[in-house]
Amino acid sequence: MEIYKDHLFVEMYSENEGHLHGFKQVLVAGSTDFQQVEIVDTHEYGRCLLLDGKMQSSQADEYIYHEFLVQPALFMHPNPKRVLIIGGGEGATLREVLRHPQVEQVEMLEIDAKVLDFAKKYLSEWHQGAFADPRTRLIVGDGRKYIEKSQTQYDVIIIDVSDPGSEGPAYLLYTRQFYQSIARRLNPQGIISLQAGSSSVVYGEIMASIYQTLKRIFPVVCGFEASIPSFDLPWGFCVATFGINPKTLTAAAIDEQINQRGVSGLRAYDGETHEGLFRITKALREVLDTQGRVIEDKRPIYTPL
Ligand code: SAM
Repeated sequence: MEIYKDHLFVEMYSENEGHLHGFKQVLVAGSTDFQQVEIVDTHEYGRCLLLDGKMQSSQADEYIYHEFLVQPALFMHPNPKRVLIIGGGEGATLREVLRHPQVEQVEMLEIDAKVLDFAKKYLSEWHQGAFADPRTRLIVGDGRKYIEKSQTQYDVIIIDVSDPGSEGPAYLLYTRQFYQSIARRLNPQGIISLQAGSSSVVYGEIMASIYQTLKRIFPVVCGFEASIPSFDLPWGFCVATFGINPKTLTAAAIDEQINQRGVSGLRAYDGETHEGLFRITKALREVLDTQGRVIEDKRPIYTPL
């Protein structure tokens, strides 16, 4: 976290642009084996988790990010029972998956045990007890290594890892080789959902490259974006499948499924929102189609900072 002046810190997106946040107190500031971790109480967004100086989620708007990362994928699947989450240290992605009574088991694989300890202590609004749910199997380890060894088949795999920083632990979780391993671990009706970095037209290369890379492996790939105010920049997500297409699901069908499956407590996602999410702008379609390249282990991609 870069202090700008008294009680203001700045999150830089590139050498030339950043966002200033006023803060009241710093609860955690330190390094783990993998990254710099900060938990800060800000004026506008409440409590925030930052990793390597980058906003991961804020108390005020984390529900938008986590519902959009999880709910479209779970409702696209006709009967999701077995789910894998890679990353997601706050426990909010897990919380969203556990809203679905028919989910029988969720494995969550997080590389940084200290992030989990901090989340348990300071981010209870995020996880809301999800780590203690009997359906949860929490594993500390590297998502890439785990998926390459795993023999399990999943209905939904959610990748909620940090952006691909050149020195961070996540950049090998954005490559064609990684998505190939994920595809092997999905059932035929399986779905992968992931956060894809900013969808801004000026930083579109990363999201477009993730999209292009997924397209090398999955027949159906849809990118979408949302406004998550604490991130400042518009934020991108992708879902990919072997055939199921989120654009064919109507608002009425999603609302009916929300009721039938007994999923409650959603604040950002419903049928109308689902339809809107997958009607993306012409500008984003152009970014996805033109700004990317296939990401390879030998040629990874890194965020500007
Ligand atoms: N919302 C986020 C964002 O905007 O980037 C992602 C949030 S979540 C806190 C990211 C988590 O991914 C972190 O807790 C980090 O430790 C975890 N992570 C990073 N690399 C990983 C890896 N190789 N395997 C498993 N977890 C990883």
